[in-house]
Amino acid sequence: MKRETICIQSGWKPTKGEPRVLPIYQSTTFKYDTSEQMGRLFDLEDSGYFYTRLQNPTNDAVAQKICELEGGVAAMLTSSGQAANYYAVFNICEAGDHLIMSSTVYGGTFNLLTCTMKKMGISCTVVDPDASEEELNAAFLPNTKCVVAETIANPALVVLDIEKFARVAHAHEVPLIVDNTFATPINCRPFEFGADIVTHSTTKYMDGHAMCVGGAIVDSGNFDWSKYPDKFPGLCTPDESYHGIVYTEKFGKGAYITKATSQLMRDLGSIQSPMNAFLLNVGLETLHLRMPRHCENAQKVAEFLEAHEKVAWVNYPGLKSNKYYELAKKYMPNGSCGVISFGLKSGREGASNMMDSLKLAAIVTHVADARTCVLHPASHTHRQMSDEQLVEAGVAPDLIRLSVGIENVEDIIADLAQAIEQA
Ligand code: PLP
Repeated sequence: MKRETICIQSGWKPTKGEPRVLPIYQSTTFKYDTSEQMGRLFDLEDSGYFYTRLQNPTNDAVAQKICELEGGVAAMLTSSGQAANYYAVFNICEAGDHLIMSSTVYGGTFNLLTCTMKKMGISCTVVDPDASEEELNAAFLPNTKCVVAETIANPALVVLDIEKFARVAHAHEVPLIVDNTFATPINCRPFEFGADIVTHSTTKYMDGHAMCVGGAIVDSGNFDWSKYPDKFPGLCTPDESYHGIVYTEKFGKGAYITKATSQLMRDLGSIQSPMNAFLLNVGLETLHLRMPRHCENAQKVAEFLEAHEKVAWVNYPGLKSNKYYELAKKYMPNGSCGVISFGLKSGREGASNMMDSLKLAAIVTHVADARTCVLHPASHTHRQMSDEQLVEAGVAPDLIRLSVGIENVEDIIADLAQAIEQA
């Protein structure tokens, strides 16, 4: 099926007499008739639901839709995008391991992978997303287990050369994990370019209405873990916490997601609530309609800003002047996302005057939903970073992040125009 149809039809497949709309299985637990039936579930001998911390039918239907949208083989929902990136990495990295991460990833991911995971004994080398293959090769260590990057970096809007990163990761026998939050599978499917695992903060465009924090992990099924049992013992050797199951032997292409569900979700418990999964599904039903409008509006706003005399610079991959214009055309021919960053000639102070004068666009710690909103990362989301880290992450101190919504674009531009006059 095409992506538009998947958005509407995939996931929940009702049969005779069942509700047409995905039901919310608002139940922590599920009943069985015999003790034997329940026992087989715990041994992973039968598939079925027993406790919502591990799996829930509402969540599974939504994960299945996201899986099909990305063109993967298995997927799971998590309570947040943070949890998705954490599980995606921790599923294959243990204390003593190392990973490589693009310097421009979202500040929360940067913190998670460079600070919090360090406390768990997992080290991280930060690389420039524009690095050459030789420079990327030099970052690998014998204990490197994965490479992590974002399709379109938040908020630097760096477009990842997915094929280059995949080629280098595979040459070193490790998977490429791509956070596809900003592009969404409507605009880019990273698996088609060699990525192995995709993560999402579904909080953003997928939900689309700023209602629910959530995340997702999708496995392409293309990375053959069983070829490298010494590198990925968690997947290829018996799991003592699960009666000695070897995930790759028992679940084949489903090994990665099954391990993340039956081991990490069991032990760490960052499940998405079924209610949130239901709302996420409603959002997904219009993702294919919203994304083109976000991109169309953002293109017009970026062109307006670029031509404005009070604007110092504009960063949007859809502008011909943009460094990533060609890469964006290659990986996202139908548009990239609705997020723009820009700076005013009046600098940091001008930015805050302008933001305070906005009437339609709201100042919120959010991005990528139907309503136009604005944020100053250096004083908000990225405030834990030093000036050097900010520059490394592609976040200038005067950078204003504008998330263009799907209102009438003339109203958005009029609001920006009057606010910039106050800057
Ligand atoms: N990944 C990206 C690209 C993000 O932009 C964000 C949040 O802004 C996250 C991950 C974290 O997601 P969440 O806020 O859902 O935990």
